[in-house]
Amino acid sequence: MTRPGGRWENWGRSESVRPQRVEFPRTTEAVQRAVVAAATQGIPVKAVGAGHSFTGIAVAPGVLLDLSDLSGLVTADTERSRVTLRAGTRLHHIPALLAPYGLAMENLGDIDRQSISGAISTGTHGTGSRFGGIATQIVGATLVTASGELLVVSESENADLLPAVALGLGALGVLVEVTVQCVPAFVLHALEQPEALDAVLADLDARVAAADHFEFYWFPHTDRAMTKTNTRLPESAPRHPLAPVGKWIDDTLVGSGLHQVACSVARTIPATIPAINRVSVKLWGDREFTDASSRVFATSRSVRFREMEYALPVENVRPAFDALRALVDEKGWRISFPVEVRFAAADDRWLSTAHGRASGYIAVHRYWREDPTEYFDAVEQIMLGFGGRPHWGKMHTLDAAALRERYPRFDDFVALRDRLDPERLFQNPYLERVLGG
Ligand SMILES: Cc1cc2nc3c(=O)[nH]c(=O)nc-3n(C[C@H](O)[C@H](O)[C@H](O)COP(=O)(O)OP(=O)(O)OC[C@H]3O[C@@H](n4cnc5c(N)ncnc54)[C@H](O)[C@@H]3O)c2cc1C
Repeated sequence: MTRPGGRWENWGRSESVRPQRVEFPRTTEAVQRAVVAAATQGIPVKAVGAGHSFTGIAVAPGVLLDLSDLSGLVTADTERSRVTLRAGTRLHHIPALLAPYGLAMENLGDIDRQSISGAISTGTHGTGSRFGGIATQIVGATLVTASGELLVVSESENADLLPAVALGLGALGVLVEVTVQCVPAFVLHALEQPEALDAVLADLDARVAAADHFEFYWFPHTDRAMTKTNTRLPESAPRHPLAPVGKWIDDTLVGSGLHQVACSVARTIPATIPAINRVSVKLWGDREFTDASSRVFATSRSVRFREMEYALPVENVRPAFDALRALVDEKGWRISFPVEVRFAAADDRWLSTAHGRASGYIAVHRYWREDPTEYFDAVEQIMLGFGGRPHWGKMHTLDAAALRERYPRFDDFVALRDRLDPERLFQNPYLERVLGG
């Protein structure tokens, strides 16, 4: 978000910048004018979504294009269950836009505050071994390239570019419209419960295969996990949503308020963390409800944190998790945030963390007022040893040379970037690091 005085900072407070100027284009033509003006002046330009990336991927030292006003539905194709959205549309606005057509997004991540373009550009994903990340739901896009021209990509136009443009790190141009392949609206049955971690690990593969959407959180310094198993049901299925008061107690009071207090106490007195985590796992889980898919997928996260997440070949999740657990025991750190483990299907997006391989994700978090460096660096070394690819929007230390080895289509992406943005109008320090200059 941009603060009074013109300073922009991200949600995790890990990145900030004072852009030379901030613009709020409302139309495609206004985006084109802004890009041409920046190019003429020799100033870099960057579209920014909700600022929810923990890395510097959205940092815009030159012209910051805030696309909040480029929002809403452009067209709906009910025959093919597709909608075209303006690029700045926030995920939490999409369910109401889809409702009149009886549609829903196929899968979502943990929260819905991001913009659709920001989410796809970093490879944002949820969980479910038969489902890809949000970028796999994109079947068309229109972007403004560095020349100010429009590039339309779809299954019938420039189709070969879709796997790059749908997950483009903001490096190929400014997306102005995206077309989403939706599914008929559906309901999710959610089962969230605390369990013994060893029991969860013992039949992890079976649980992941059996469930539509399975994930678990491990609370360090405990032998407990909180599992979440969501089952897809037709829209006509009876709903048993969480009562508003119960939901408020779980999500706001326990999930956020008490957790905020716990993190503050834990920061001052780290020795209390194991006890706090034991209480957290008891309070946090244990609920069952059925509701519209978007209301079940998305939760709220109001306690600020920093995060690193690595995607692994799915068969490496168990050994990597075991190594992480041993590391936390061995180091004697006090970690107040849970470790999250999720799953996704292989996909074809060139820079997707799940490109060409069924994947599991291990994410580590730290309260934003704590220095995550030692913990994240050590975890990163483990993940790299198991073939990990870092989430583009979450903290990591890899550069282009290290990433090239991990992505078979890396050079194709760089070549496309050379073609669409030869002068590096959309460059920023993070992109220079991860893609090269
Ligand atoms: C609390 C929290 C929960 C999260 N949960 C998840 C999760 O469950 N799963 C997951 O995978 N990730 C998760 N993330 C990470 C988050 O989804 C990604 O970092 C996502 O990119 C943020 O979207 P945004 O709109 O904030 O994009 P920003 O961070 O603002 O931008 C990200 C990138 O998108 C580019 N971009 C934005 N708009 C455009 C455009 N119109 N054209 C071209 N490029 C554009 C930017 O230039 C930048 O490169 C979470 C982050 C937070 C803070």
